Amino acid sequence: MAAMHEVPASPDVVVVGGGVIGLSIAWRVAETGRRVVVVDPAPGRGATWAAAGMIAPVTEAHYGEEALASLAVHAAERWPAYNTDLEAVSARGTGYLRCGTIVVGADRSDRLALDEIRAYQASLGLEVTALSGRESRELEPALSPNSHGGAHVPGDHQVDNRLLVAALTAACRAHHVTFVADRVAAVDRDRTGAVSGVVQDTGIALRAPTVVLAAGWDLASVQGLPPGTLPPVRPVKGMTLRLQARALAPRLSQTVRGLVHGIPCYLVPRHDGALVVGATSEERGTDQTVDAGAVYALLRDARSLVPGIDEYELVECATGLRPGTPDNAPVVGWSSVPGLALAAGHYRNGILLAPVTAAAVADLVAGRPLPDVMAPFGPERLLGHARGAPAAGTAAR
Ligand SMILES: Cc1cc2nc3c(=O)[nH]c(=O)nc-3n(C[C@H](O)[C@H](O)[C@H](O)COP(=O)(O)OP(=O)(O)OC[C@H]3O[C@@H](n4cnc5c(N)ncnc54)[C@H](O)[C@@H]3O)c2cc1C
Repeated sequence: MAAMHEVPASPDVVVVGGGVIGLSIAWRVAETGRRVVVVDPAPGRGATWAAAGMIAPVTEAHYGEEALASLAVHAAERWPAYNTDLEAVSARGTGYLRCGTIVVGADRSDRLALDEIRAYQASLGLEVTALSGRESRELEPALSPNSHGGAHVPGDHQVDNRLLVAALTAACRAHHVTFVADRVAAVDRDRTGAVSGVVQDTGIALRAPTVVLAAGWDLASVQGLPPGTLPPVRPVKGMTLRLQARALAPRLSQTVRGLVHGIPCYLVPRHDGALVVGATSEERGTDQTVDAGAVYALLRDARSLVPGIDEYELVECATGLRPGTPDNAPVVGWSSVPGLALAAGHYRNGILLAPVTAAAVADLVAGRPLPDVMAPFGPERLLGHARGAPAAGTAAR
């Protein structure tokens, strides 16, 4: 298959997968002067395309995921600088909005459950303030008069994930990243077992001393590796709906997250009147069809929190496969195969974690150790073997 630009004769790094993770890595590595190739048949069209774009370290903090919550807070702190750099180099807006988030319950038991979650989030040192129903409606008048107050989370923001893909692609091009529209069938290794490149589905070989696997849920599709090299990553189907406000429809000024009779639901307003409603979470293998019942349930729950969505146009139902790991945390670091780095398994938080993941992989490629904040998320935790050394040829140029 043809490359979109001429592929360099000897790239330094091949990135397999051009979702938010692969694109962010490619950009950050290429800006250090390395020749980078991204191989993906449809960059940006995986889970990244279906996402809501919440940058939500607080409302995504779950029981038992304290290390992940701490990584998420660190990632959110990096977002403003990452976004400033990205908008400057790409000359494009990403729709990054520091809008905050309001959390409400549909009934009294939802409110009680949210109170417990808020106490847990506060115990982690996260900024979250309790609100009554009246206080939440003062902050967000479009909320239903029946909603039960919950919390205000001033630090949970959002970005437009699709504008983000466009900006990342432009940033990569500005740093001469080459895109190859093909799948990678296998990693190639030399006689010592170290990475020597990849082989595309079309049979074309690309030589490089460093390969980064950022293939989302489909990591295991890449062959040529010894058993036990890749951590288990499974697809978790999610659906979001895209709505558009009509002229007189009430608009939200911040993200609304809610519990509706125990089921989570969110509404993420963009600056142009678009609204993302989500999301389902389904263990259905690689199925990506749209269920009528799931669309109905999302609209029903979103409408119970914000009745004014009746006045919106339903524009799109988007499904994607989140890359889930056994502990819901990402896998970032050198694998046991010299020259092969992994950046996958970002599950519910790949948009949030993109800046910190890209910085960590850029450090590895430059011959530096994994940053402390990422150290708990190396592949060895899920595979039980020691971390491999980088291959020769990965040091900074
Ligand atoms: C409904 C939904 C809502 C979400 N909302 C949020 C949110 O609000 N905030 C947040 O932070 N996260 C959210 N997420 C999670 C986030 O979207 C993912 O964590 C993130 O997109 C993962 O990025 P990725 O680049 O690893 O994977 P992907 O975006 O899936 O990209 C992987 C890429 O790899 C390519 N690929 C796969 N195999 C190969 C191969 N063999 N050769 C070449 N290329 C290959 C694919 O074509 C694809 O483009 C959401 C996800 C879903 C589904």
